[in-house]
Amino acid sequence: MLEFNEAEPNHWQHMEQLKEYPIQCPYCGETITVLVDCSIRQQNYIEDCQVCCRPINFDVSINFDGEPQVMVSDENE
Ligand SMILES: [Zn+2]
Repeated sequence: MLEFNEAEPNHWQHMEQLKEYPIQCPYCGETITVLVDCSIRQQNYIEDCQVCCRPINFDVSINFDGEPQVMVSDENE
């Protein structure tokens, strides 16, 4: 007999993987929206600000609810 447990801890793999997340640019202070890949639990990358084009350092972690937590800092930190 096959049994499917829907409460499996890997359920979050089936969630929408790209999430829009608003952050505030550490350089110009503008709020910009970035797409966060929720299928990767922990990531660190640099993306240019859409407003001032300076490189923002992103520190992204996904919690168990699949919600992204995004920390941004300027490159010199
Ligand atoms: Zn900016």
